[in-house]
Amino acid sequence: MHYLLLSLMPLVAYATSIIDATLADPSPPRPDKLPAISPPFNYTAIEAGLAEHLSLASFRMEGLNASARMIPQACKDRAKDYHMQPSDLQVFRSTYDDCEQPWVMCRHNNATVSMQDITTVFGRIPLGMRQFTRHLIVLPSASLPPGCAGVSSDDAIVVGDSALKHFVLAHEISHSLDARNRPTTTPTPNSNSNLPIGISISPTWRASYALDSATVSEYARSAWPEQLAETGVAALYDAVVPGGLASAGNPSYGGVMNQVGAWRREFGRFVDGEGGCGLRRPDSPMVGWDD
Ligand SMILES: [Zn+2]
Repeated sequence: MHYLLLSLMPLVAYATSIIDATLADPSPPRPDKLPAISPPFNYTAIEAGLAEHLSLASFRMEGLNASARMIPQACKDRAKDYHMQPSDLQVFRSTYDDCEQPWVMCRHNNATVSMQDITTVFGRIPLGMRQFTRHLIVLPSASLPPGCAGVSSDDAIVVGDSALKHFVLAHEISHSLDARNRPTTTPTPNSNSNLPIGISISPTWRASYALDSATVSEYARSAWPEQLAETGVAALYDAVVPGGLASAGNPSYGGVMNQVGAWRREFGRFVDGEGGCGLRRPDSPMVGWDD
């Protein structure tokens, strides 16, 4: 997985219910019939394009007083996962001009990125996608398992400090888009609610893969949710950077465009702002450090 220049790591570990949904689907178990695109995408160029062309919502930030000794349950749980104390996390609220409700974020005191860095990168993610994230938690990359840049779990995202990138968030948020939505293409009206949630398990999604000649990365071949999440990075670039994915400097990009098109058909409305921030799930409850 050495194509990720920022860390020489695979993009993520992933630990939520969507894995169960994937296992429940009998076939095919992995999207590994296609090779990864060759040459690989240059993620430094992808990141630069996203950073330049995503617009930043203006924001204000407010740190929570540590003397209250309170933290979102999700931050506390993730801290525990990586053998850290809740007291080592700075809790703060970031409020963007496009949504009244602040996001409660957590940052480890030793992280090499600031509260403002975190709020800025997250704030460039289109609101319709941002609304699927409950909490963003930034920990020192060295504290995450080897090879792990980020983890998505129950719509809370953990990112290592060296992996605080727009494309990493696009990948992680794609897991929530996948897990929280039903396919838009449905056979009959009113049947939508009977379809299982999870785009990456749908025949429509998998049909787009079958039309292509490659996946967007090697990591995308490891599991269907990862194939969808990795495709989300290329698709966000395609949607927001002038010239689309063709401008990313990869002559083989045409071999992944059915998957990119499918992601944009399913989720492009969120890039365009559908839902505002009205689809946000409730925050994880605030709990005491010592509870
Ligand atoms: Zn992933």
